[in-house]
Amino acid sequence: MSYKEWFDAHGAKHAKIMEKLTHLNDAEVIEYFRFENMVRNETNFCPLYAENKKCHDMEDLNCYLCACPNFRFNDKGFTKEGEKTLFSTCSIESPDGDRYISAQAIHQNCVGCLVPHRESYVRKVFDRSWFAVMNEVVCE
Ligand code: SF4
Repeated sequence: MSYKEWFDAHGAKHAKIMEKLTHLNDAEVIEYFRFENMVRNETNFCPLYAENKKCHDMEDLNCYLCACPNFRFNDKGFTKEGEKTLFSTCSIESPDGDRYISAQAIHQNCVGCLVPHRESYVRKVFDRSWFAVMNEVVCE
């Protein structure tokens, strides 16, 4: 699956959930997207929910901003670094971000970064449209 395919499919799932939550205010929507509620009530939103597993080991994990507004991808590649193609990166150069490097590709690795999963951050960039929050992520 390409980045863009995942992005479109995930945004559609997010929008479908939001259609059900029109009766909630913004704070209640953010609360709804807490891992403990999502794992019970939105089982198809994330494949990890089936195993009751979190993508990051943190107590108050919020799933509203999966993925991250600071992520940038280009399925055709941004640039070449030697023989390798750079496909994704972090726009804020988070010190907790890293890179997956294979023989031919470089991808952003967000495993160690909690930025988009903290509710303070979700509140800061919140929009009821996931695609609006993520409007700079696709760089194709
Ligand atoms: S490293 Fe952190 S801030 Fe940067 S794209 Fe990944 S999750 Fe977002």
